[in-house]
Amino acid sequence: MENLIETVSLKKSYQPWKKHPVYAVDDVSISIRKGEVLGLVGESGCGKSTLGKALLNLEPITEGKVLYRGKDISRYSFREMRKIRNQMQMVFQNSIDSFNPYLTVRQVVMEPLNNYSKASRQEKETKVRSMLEEVGLGAEYLDRYGSELSGGQRQRVGIARALIMDPEFVICDEAVSALDYAVRNKILRLLYRMKKEKGLTYLFISHDLSAVRQICDRVVVMYMGQVMEILPDLQEETIRHPYTKALLAASLGTDPRDRQKKRVLFKDEASGQTIPQGCPFQNRCLYAREQCKTERPILTMLDEGTHWGACHYIKEL
Ligand code: SF4
Repeated sequence: MENLIETVSLKKSYQPWKKHPVYAVDDVSISIRKGEVLGLVGESGCGKSTLGKALLNLEPITEGKVLYRGKDISRYSFREMRKIRNQMQMVFQNSIDSFNPYLTVRQVVMEPLNNYSKASRQEKETKVRSMLEEVGLGAEYLDRYGSELSGGQRQRVGIARALIMDPEFVICDEAVSALDYAVRNKILRLLYRMKKEKGLTYLFISHDLSAVRQICDRVVVMYMGQVMEILPDLQEETIRHPYTKALLAASLGTDPRDRQKKRVLFKDEASGQTIPQGCPFQNRCLYAREQCKTERPILTMLDEGTHWGACHYIKEL
């Protein structure tokens, strides 16, 4: 499948002038194929959202490239980005909370059309109504304000707004994390239907591993700004990297057998410490050896084009 968007050795540091700058994103090269849902997982602060924003040029990068349809958009000006902005959208957790509370649902969803489309008022109104139908909200919601909606309804409005310009690439950043189970499943089905019907491509950023399993075609696992593993699914038998195993164990429930797995899979060290060299997971990894302290592991292919891991010992673990 053809790549729609990719990063090449992308780095983002907030203190590039320091001797040992802390990288929120550290030498990340990933690709998102046209029509796929790529999951991006990792603990809070691992750089997932920074990477997502960098893909849309909402965050200036320190080094590297972001290729969209083969062109580097990372240094595009505001004007240049404006030409492709409606093709790339982002849905945040509690999206509509970031909109003006004095705007109605109609105004919120219509805003991108007002900014980017030359359609008539009537055409815009028709499009807004049909988009709201698509996300399962009827015309009775048009004149309501955000405060009059439930969390799930607000999130649907946020999704309708993101999809109204028929983008080809959407980043969902924890888009279902704050929702209760039933609403979350409805939204996941909606996103999946949009992918099937409209050929949408998604980057699905989430710490909800079961949602990632449900919707994603491939998964990228990040730790402290670096890619640890790229794999076709998040099944226990597929995972090879010690960090991904730890992440899965940490997400398990309260079953005593699950707690046992958690205890044996990683050391309970703080995850946010700066690691100047070697593997970023060395302080927590049960398999760490001398080489892990000095040499950064590189992402190596494990299975033909579908599975990659960054660990010196991944083939023997
Ligand atoms: Fe653990 Fe070393 Fe592999 Fe890092 S490189 S995950 S520290 S074994």
